[in-house]
Amino acid sequence: MSDIAENTGRELYEKLRKKLLYVFSEDSISVVDKAFNLANEAHGEQKRKSGEPYIIHPIAVAEILFDELGMDMPSVAAALLHDVVEDTHYEIGEIKALFGSEIALLVDGVTKINRMQISSKEEQQAENLRKMLIAMSQDIRVIIIKLADRVHNIRTLQYVPEQKRRLTAKETLEIYAPIAHRLGIRAFKEELEDKSISFLDPVAYHDIEQKLEQQGTQRLEFLAQIKNKITERVSETVKDAKIDGRIKSVHGIYRKMYIGGKSFDEIYDIYAVRIIVDTVVDCYNCLGIVHDMYRSIPGRFKDYISTPKPNMYQSLHTTLIGEEGIPFEVQIRTWEMHRNAEYGIAAHWKYKMGRTDRDIDERLLWIRQMLESQQESGNAGDIVQDIKSDLVPEEVFVLTPKGSVICLPMGATVIDFAYAIHSAVGNKMTGAKVDGRIVPIDYIVRTGEIVEILTTSQPNKGPSRDWLKIVKTSAARTKIRSWFKKEKRDDNIIAGRAEFDKELRKSNIRLNDEQMRQLLEALAEKQRQNSVDDFFSAIGYGGISISRLMPQIRDEVAKLQSAQQSAKPPEIKIAKPKTSSGDGVVVEGIDNCLVKLSKCCGPIPGDDIIGFITRGHGVSVHKRDCPNVPRNILTSAEPERWLNVHWEETAARGFNATMAITCIDRMSLLADVSVALANMHVMIHSVNTRDPGDGSLIIYMTIAVNNAEHLKGITSKLMKINGILKIERSGS
Ligand code: MN
Repeated sequence: MSDIAENTGRELYEKLRKKLLYVFSEDSISVVDKAFNLANEAHGEQKRKSGEPYIIHPIAVAEILFDELGMDMPSVAAALLHDVVEDTHYEIGEIKALFGSEIALLVDGVTKINRMQISSKEEQQAENLRKMLIAMSQDIRVIIIKLADRVHNIRTLQYVPEQKRRLTAKETLEIYAPIAHRLGIRAFKEELEDKSISFLDPVAYHDIEQKLEQQGTQRLEFLAQIKNKITERVSETVKDAKIDGRIKSVHGIYRKMYIGGKSFDEIYDIYAVRIIVDTVVDCYNCLGIVHDMYRSIPGRFKDYISTPKPNMYQSLHTTLIGEEGIPFEVQIRTWEMHRNAEYGIAAHWKYKMGRTDRDIDERLLWIRQMLESQQESGNAGDIVQDIKSDLVPEEVFVLTPKGSVICLPMGATVIDFAYAIHSAVGNKMTGAKVDGRIVPIDYIVRTGEIVEILTTSQPNKGPSRDWLKIVKTSAARTKIRSWFKKEKRDDNIIAGRAEFDKELRKSNIRLNDEQMRQLLEALAEKQRQNSVDDFFSAIGYGGISISRLMPQIRDEVAKLQSAQQSAKPPEIKIAKPKTSSGDGVVVEGIDNCLVKLSKCCGPIPGDDIIGFITRGHGVSVHKRDCPNVPRNILTSAEPERWLNVHWEETAARGFNATMAITCIDRMSLLADVSVALANMHVMIHSVNTRDPGDGSLIIYMTIAVNNAEHLKGITSKLMKINGILKIERSGS
């Protein structure tokens, strides 16, 4: 090894060592010494693209970890060793033998991430991200070291050839900066973003820098003035508040200008004043003070203290207008929140006092959720979509009617919102109101909107399969998928069996139990279903269309028939349709009387009913809960005229029932309802609509049903149509 390389490394390391000794004893840094000696010897004559000795890179990474994040000794040692396995003759087994399994695991993790070839192909990218997520979920320090490695590489990226430089910058912006954001390490996130932009779009970057500079002195004066005024007022009530001003990151401005399409002057939060206090109560006190001092911009107040961001960021944010009409943002937080905001997950190592591993667990929840949602879906395209949508740092903040803030990725819909509240809310969702108005189910929520989810009490209501195409978050997608997998299966089997039975009845096919068993097994096999239940389930959710299957069913029935004809007389009877006997109502104690179903409530078989002896028109039949039936018959005017009636065992089909369908007023909804009814072979007698004037529409539809059970089935099918909010029985 040349003396120059040896000396440069040694000198730099001594500087770092001095800093370590401020905090740690000679004893505890001996492992770091050992790591440096090995790395220094191993990298030997290797050079960086800048021409400097390679060893300066691992030292710089170790320094970033210790100096800027306050990471622990194993992390610092592993940082010194992080490129040894990748770039020198050392193998991971030797590192483990020399440094133990903790440090070896960290070095191995970083080495594995380095070996990923991030390519433009989506599948490859999904695989890389998956590996990275797994590495992170094993020991989060792996990714923190990797982030520090990337920070140093991007600080020195100007020495790298143009093409490689752009590739690295793009990868940093798309993958590493979002990860730093999700881990809450603001300092890393902003630097990674700003530097990436300066390499990817140098013209725009320098344009923004220049604009900021042009306002240089003016800006500093403005900030200083605000800071002084606020300090003066705040110190009257709140002790020990630290107040300072800062300017938004270049990337933040870049994003708003080039992606958000805003002009430089339209960006509100170029100026930010930060107030750091001791307690949460002081935070709200300060908020009151600044709102008293300046006019606030409506819709820009965000309370991340009561509702932290997914990366656990906490603060109060508000945007105020200064005397010159220049808007500025104020962030108010406690010291603990401030440390979390700056160092994110790394604060765990820097400020260990009183912290538990639960803090880390909470922060890593999203990694685990993402890994889980990947297992649910086998499709690589889905995975990339999920990860990208979850890593995208743009977020919107939406309010519940009670004022809690729900944080969602940009582009999330009201369905995502419903599932973010609770899966039960999502599964029972029928529609949504945004700021009091009914919106379509694919409505994309925006920051500041108040969203109210409309739900049904119907227990068997669930999500619609179409929602999978609408939702933005992987959390919602996973919850919908698992609903279809689990809960829906039983319902599907029941619905499928009912549909199957009905279709057979309609075709007048009657089979005994044994024949039915044979028929079903044959059909399940032909339809490539593992069991008869699977077959019913597939009919239930629409995977198999029973009407399209009828020719095949008739064939099978014919086969069964001919097979049995030789052995014994056929048991399959083609039954004659039953003749309807009156309206299917038995009046207790009276034979052959004229029975009429009342028009006021339109009872159908299955409803609880009662009869009323009219003058000259026979018995009129009402639902028990019809408003025309007295609550207490014994105390009513003519108790002797009310009598018990019940439905005939095999009531004939074709009862009229009227549904009031409340829905979003959209063009093709009526057509969708009609088509759905036609598919269920349900006849429509009449249709009326009413506009209640709140953006919704009520369709009154009278249809022919067999009984109450049948109507329930039809209702739950119709509820799956997008835009239908509620279906109620109504008098005709
Ligand atoms: Mn490196």
